[in-house]
Amino acid sequence: MARSGKLLYVYECAGCGYRGEERFDVESHDGEISTCHACGAAVMLEWDAGVTMEAAAKKLAAETIARARK
Ligand SMILES: [Zn+2]
Repeated sequence: MARSGKLLYVYECAGCGYRGEERFDVESHDGEISTCHACGAAVMLEWDAGVTMEAAAKKLAAETIARARK
């Protein structure tokens, strides 16, 4: 299954409460340990599926518009 664009991963730092985000090309970073951008503590990345679904909905809308133009 080909995917275009980047996937969004989010985290909430347990130490300082900072909510950050990182982007990767693949899905395999879910649950991966990263570093808080605010305080440097270890944080766990969570794949933000909602953003991916939003992107899929936009793609579907774009395809529908492209089809309507033909
Ligand atoms: Zn932090």
